[in-house]
Amino acid sequence: MEIKEAQERIKDFDIARGWADNWNLKDLALNITEEVGEFWSLIKWIDDEKQKDVIRNKKADASDFVGDTLFLLLKLSNQMNIDAAISLQNTLDEYEKRMPPEVMRKVGHANKLAGGHDNKDFNSQK
Ligand SMILES: [Mg+2]
Repeated sequence: MEIKEAQERIKDFDIARGWADNWNLKDLALNITEEVGEFWSLIKWIDDEKQKDVIRNKKADASDFVGDTLFLLLKLSNQMNIDAAISLQNTLDEYEKRMPPEVMRKVGHANKLAGGHDNKDFNSQK
């Protein structure tokens, strides 16, 4: 399913239930954090290898997290009249400039405080 199609389907879902204007941005944002919390409860306080095992064994729960979170994020986008596909495209364009692959393969990560690379100010360097 394309992002635009999903956004329209969620809009129709809400309209059919009389919920088109029945949500506020704060509640939707908090609902996303609730979903993140549910996901975190699956993997909290265990090391990276065990996290991978948990996800392998609880793939349906991980999939629910992705679906629920995307649903809420697209619903939030609808409330703000934002085309989520364009938002994602803009983010990818920015990240590709900020974190060029030839540099990232050398430094490994984008945490400048820990010695990584992030060309965050690429716009002001033009
Ligand atoms: Mg959930």
